[in-house]
Amino acid sequence: MRVLVVEDDQHLLQQIKEALSTQGYVVDTAVDGAQAHYMASVEPFDLVVLDLGLPQIDGLTVLKRWRAENRNMPVLILTARDSWHEKVSGMDAGADDYVTKPFHMQELLARLRALLRRAAGQASAIFSCGRLMLDTRQSQFFLDHQALNLTGHEYKVLAYLMHHLDEVVSRTDLTEHIYAQDQDRDSNTIDVFIGRLRKKLPADYIQTVRGLGYKLIDPDA
Ligand code: CA
Repeated sequence: MRVLVVEDDQHLLQQIKEALSTQGYVVDTAVDGAQAHYMASVEPFDLVVLDLGLPQIDGLTVLKRWRAENRNMPVLILTARDSWHEKVSGMDAGADDYVTKPFHMQELLARLRALLRRAAGQASAIFSCGRLMLDTRQSQFFLDHQALNLTGHEYKVLAYLMHHLDEVVSRTDLTEHIYAQDQDRDSNTIDVFIGRLRKKLPADYIQTVRGLGYKLIDPDA
C-alpha cells in the first residue's frame, strides 16, 4: 500500500516515513502544498497523511482541491494542538480522520490501518482469504496460522492483492503501488514476484486473468 506523507517539518517527515516503511508501506513524501497537490494528481496513492500548516499552499486548500477533482483516497490530517476549529474545517473539507500534534507514532499507524481497511470494505484488522491471513497490525501474513516468510516486495504485492480481494489487479496497478516515485520500476519484476508468491502459497490462490492482470481468491470458497 502506497502512502503520501506531506509535512514541512523534515524531522517529523523522516520519522513518519521510517515508521511507515518499517511496516511495509511504500512511502512518498512532499514538503509543501504545491508539491503535494501535484504528486497526488499524477500518482495513485492508497492514503495521504497531510499536515495542514504547509508553505506555498496550505493543507486545507490542497485537500479541498483534491476533493473537487474527485481524488477520493483516504486523507488523515495532522492538526495543531488546541485547534478544534482546524479539525472541524479539515473534516468538513473531506478529511477522513485526524491526529493532533504531538502524537504517538503507534496511534498514527493504527489510524492509518483503520482507514486502509475501511477503504477495502473491511472492518477487522485481520484480512482473510481461505487459509491465508494478513494481520495488518503486524504486517504479517499467515498460512494455516503459520507465519509466512516473505521478502519486502513479495509482502507489498500480496498485501495490495489482499486489499483488493476478488478484484482483477493489473500489472501497472501493482507496479504503481509497490514502488515509490524515486525507485526504478519495471513491470516485468511483478511477474517474478507473483511467481515466487505462488511457490509459497497453495495452488490457485493467485489467478492470472489473461491480458488484464492478477486476482487473489480463495479457491476453496
Ligand atoms: Ca507544518
